[in-house]
Amino acid sequence: MIVAMQENASEEQISHVIGRLIEIGFEVHRSTGERQTVLGGVGGGDTPDIGWLEMLPGVEHVHRIGSPYKLVARRFRPEGTVVRFPNGVSIGGEEVVVMAGPCSVESRDQIFAIAQEVAITGGRFLRGGAFKPRSSPYSFQGMGEEGLKLMRAAASEFGLLVVSEVMEISQIGLMAPYIDMFQVGARNMQNFNLLRELGKVRKPILLKRGIAATIEELLLSAEYVMAGGNYNVVLCERGIRTFETYTRNTMDISAIPVVKELSHLPIVADPSHGTGRRDKVPAMARASVAAGADGLLIEVHNCPDKAVSDGAQSLYPVQLARLMEDLRSIAPAVGRVMSSIDRDLPSVPMEVAAAN
Ligand code: PEP
Ligand code: MN
Repeated sequence: MIVAMQENASEEQISHVIGRLIEIGFEVHRSTGERQTVLGGVGGGDTPDIGWLEMLPGVEHVHRIGSPYKLVARRFRPEGTVVRFPNGVSIGGEEVVVMAGPCSVESRDQIFAIAQEVAITGGRFLRGGAFKPRSSPYSFQGMGEEGLKLMRAAASEFGLLVVSEVMEISQIGLMAPYIDMFQVGARNMQNFNLLRELGKVRKPILLKRGIAATIEELLLSAEYVMAGGNYNVVLCERGIRTFETYTRNTMDISAIPVVKELSHLPIVADPSHGTGRRDKVPAMARASVAAGADGLLIEVHNCPDKAVSDGAQSLYPVQLARLMEDLRSIAPAVGRVMSSIDRDLPSVPMEVAAAN
């Protein structure tokens, strides 16, 4: 911790700040320059919130050197975390793992048709919401447990894993038998009670970045889960809200290499919510993999124009197939691999190819 005092700070103010730093566990090193005094706090102080320090009389600026998170910090596990799943799939290893599916589970026919497409293109996870966080209370809220049952059945049929969003603590127990990874949505990234409870479960957590969250806030939310004892956390960049209105959110691809430097946790990218437009999803997916993403979370629908949620950003199955083919060229260029598939890809119909 570095505390730069104002040029005109009095000796009394400086002593007061030194006293407070010692009180919270720091050893203080004082450097008195010609014009300014700078205090270096070293050691045990654990002060995630430093705002109060900056408000002390005579203080100009406070700069924290250590990170406010510990368990998620890269130095906690310099080699990186690999999150492993029952069928041998792992996130954070060599393979770029694709999780794809509809925004919402809508019906048996829908989820089975989509699961088949995801499986044949080489996806590993079927994604789909059974509990939906909708901006409007009048929008479709999800199929609930029935949706989870259908998703599990479809995933098992096609050898896929299941990731689905948990919105509140009471849903954890209900969801656990049906899913392989709990998704925490952007709107719940700072639902600290939920995060604490998820720290106690024995299934991995996919933690999405909040709409207006900094990277540090995302990492601190992951710290809640890890501090509870669950070290299997996968982060997800899904776009943040900026002044730009052309896209639904602004896909912050730079967050991927930043998180890789700051943390050992895997990070995947969600270009669907990141852009809100299916014609921009493939480009952002390719860029994310090139930037080092450990996986992708992608919305795909067999009939996007009729989807009950997020149809505009849902790929047609042939677009997913084409994207996977592109990723098979990109991944090796950045030292990664894609899953292999064992059938020919469908060709892209002209109207869809034109949309790209
Ligand atoms: C979703 O994945 O469908 C979703 C609601 O995402 P987010 O929480 O990122 O908005
Ligand atoms: Mn969605």
